[in-house]
Amino acid sequence: MFVLALATGILISLSTPLTYLCLAWKTRQAETAALTHQIAREAQEIIISNSDNLEYTVLQLNNLVARYQQKPDIKHIRITTHRITSEAALTTTPPSLFDTVQRADINVRGTTPGYVEITATLASTIMSTTLLLGIFLGLALLTNMLLYCLPVSIVDENSTILRNMSDKLKRTADELSHVKSILEQTALLDCKTGLYNASQCIKRLDEEMNRILRYGGAVTLLILDIDHFRIYNDLHGHIQGDEALVTLAMLLKTQIRSNDLAGRFDGEKFFVVLPDLEKNQAVTTADRLRASIAIHPFPNVEQLPGGKLTASIGMSIYAGGSLTSQQFIEQADQALAQAKNSGRNKVVIYQASAMTTLP
Ligand code: GH3
Ligand code: MG
Repeated sequence: MFVLALATGILISLSTPLTYLCLAWKTRQAETAALTHQIAREAQEIIISNSDNLEYTVLQLNNLVARYQQKPDIKHIRITTHRITSEAALTTTPPSLFDTVQRADINVRGTTPGYVEITATLASTIMSTTLLLGIFLGLALLTNMLLYCLPVSIVDENSTILRNMSDKLKRTADELSHVKSILEQTALLDCKTGLYNASQCIKRLDEEMNRILRYGGAVTLLILDIDHFRIYNDLHGHIQGDEALVTLAMLLKTQIRSNDLAGRFDGEKFFVVLPDLEKNQAVTTADRLRASIAIHPFPNVEQLPGGKLTASIGMSIYAGGSLTSQQFIEQADQALAQAKNSGRNKVVIYQASAMTTLP
């Protein structure tokens, strides 16, 4: 592509000086022809007016030749008649390639006794053409350099800017996706305890119940409420109460399987969803959770009833059937109420007829 553009540039550059050369050549030939005719006319007058005096005629013609010989570019003038030849030359060399030779007849009274011949050099024309050629070729090369080097450098510069921008955009996109995942996590989690929030608890319950409707199995829901928490708060303040909530959340989280879900429903009420457990396994898990809270050394619990911080758990199992998640929650809630009524720090399993209380 570069070579093609260069060749085109050189061709265009050559055409202008060559056109100039042709025009200058033609002009010089016309000028030389006019000069030849003028000298022939003057020679004609000299011959006519001095027809009797040959010596004087020769002198006059020699003067004529000498006068015109002084003109620039005239290399050689020759006047020839059948009686005399007058001639002057800058050089004796024959006409070269760049010379132009013009000839005009001398007419005296209807006859042609001789002629005038002029050899003019076109050296100045050649010189100026060469100069013009050099300038145009230089311009062609310069234009090519500008056309190719400049845009290439601009493209290079732009591509560097674009690369930097794309790197920046990629970094920003990474940061945004990181922030997005944090926001998504935040939307799912309870900010105080880091457990799942109420809406996630219900969502998971719905998913599990739908799964059971399709494939069978069972899911256990535990609703856990701290006993006499109002007293603990009143005695030691909300900040210490919050710390107890966080500790309890940790106890739940560390004791369930990865497939289980622990969430804070509201206040000091927690959800635990246990999929795919036999009833006795679920009961064991619920009682293990209750016991782990009861034996945990929460600070300043001496004044609480029983001298320790405990929790009551209501438990319900869903193994299929027409039940909404809301009704499922209400069942576990009823069992929880029964656990509270039967002395707290207990697990009560929901049953439509008679509920089972542990321990
Ligand atoms: P019960 O054994 O019947 O459950 O008695 P309780 O005192 O726990 O009674 P209840 O469950 O009705 O009391 C809820 C208390 O829990 C009220 C409030 O002081 C406390 N509580 C609820 N949410 C928070 C919380 O986010 N932080 C703290 N520190 N306390 C809370
Ligand atoms: Mg309570």
